[in-house]
Amino acid sequence: MRIGTPREIKNHEYRVGLTPESVVELVAHGHEVMVETGAGEGIGAHDRDYVEAGAAIVDGPQEIFAQCDMVVKVKEPQAAERAMLREGQILYTYLHLAPDPEQTADLVKSGVTAIAYETVTGPGGTLPLLKPMSQVAGRMSVQAGATALEKAHGGRGVLIGGVPGVAPAKVAVIGGGVVGWNAAQMAVGMGADVTILDRSPEQLERLGLYFESRAKTRFSNKANLAEVVCDADLVIGAVLIPGAAAPKLVSRAMLKGMKKGAVLVDVAIDQGGCFETSHPTTHDDPTFIVDGIVHYCVANMPGAVSRTSTYALNNVTLPHALRIADAFDSPGGWKNALRADPHLAAGLNVHAGQVTYEAVARELGYDH
Ligand code: NAD
Repeated sequence: MRIGTPREIKNHEYRVGLTPESVVELVAHGHEVMVETGAGEGIGAHDRDYVEAGAAIVDGPQEIFAQCDMVVKVKEPQAAERAMLREGQILYTYLHLAPDPEQTADLVKSGVTAIAYETVTGPGGTLPLLKPMSQVAGRMSVQAGATALEKAHGGRGVLIGGVPGVAPAKVAVIGGGVVGWNAAQMAVGMGADVTILDRSPEQLERLGLYFESRAKTRFSNKANLAEVVCDADLVIGAVLIPGAAAPKLVSRAMLKGMKKGAVLVDVAIDQGGCFETSHPTTHDDPTFIVDGIVHYCVANMPGAVSRTSTYALNNVTLPHALRIADAFDSPGGWKNALRADPHLAAGLNVHAGQVTYEAVARELGYDH
């Protein structure tokens, strides 16, 4: 199979679909790989690294979209890229189609076969191709919060771990799923006084068993939330209700009860945010202050650590890419890879002019 990775063109996107190491694997399986010049610069991978890995470097995206059987990317195709997609080609990337009717219409019109990272499933209903980005965002939320706590950034002037003789910061993590768990790991590692709130008794039990006395767990109800949030130096919002907007768990009124210069990091901002006063920010200007409380609400946190994020993403996307590519060259074609693995099949969102993912079809009216 001929596989291609163009340079990402979405604003401030520094990740890349394939690392040189992934190219080595694909080439070892007998596939041909094309990479657009400069595609890996944002992760410190240069054209010569891709050439050494066995890829051919091409000047622009046109050759990739015109000649490759599968295009591997990170972000959803932008309008200029969508115009180059064609029937019979496989697009393997994050798509997030439900809130994006324009992109969906273009993919349907192109006839492309689009496999979305975010809907590929794993055992027990997990979403393994989303997980690494939640791990990154969770771990990053503590370092973002630590920086915002510094006086020059509007914070209280508190060091997360304290020093001998001075108490550490109190860190509250609301939502103990993938993001919250990783945030708590980092905060505990830095020596903070950590409390994790969740409303799932099973998850609280798992958290309790893992963290033992290194972090407290509390059931997430209004009274506990108010108590823990008002006592905290740093609050990390990491809740998720699948398929729904994030619940507003910290109201504007609650800010009045918090310590001046405390920090709210709203990781759930990509689902609307779990603090009433949140609005999305960018890496260029990540924070703002409301009623003396610093807010950090960057919607694409993993983009800032493009190298770590790209490697974490490739670790989970490459095995499927290999299966699709290997099946493509076999008698049954790429469809065999999806028939053999229902988790990969769950990633199919658009094929030959049809929306094939039920929730997207229903949301955007392609279900009749
Ligand atoms: P997850 O499903 O693993 O965890 C969510 C947790 O929230 C679950 O344990 C659930 O029980 C808990 N929860 C739900 N309602 C709650 C409530 N009222 N109080 C306390 N806990 C509650 O999800 P995740 O992967 O950890 O993702 C969390 C959020 O972070 C999502 O909105 C996700 O989209 C977002 N995210 C943002 C970025 C970013 O760059 N900003 C990156 C990755 C993920």
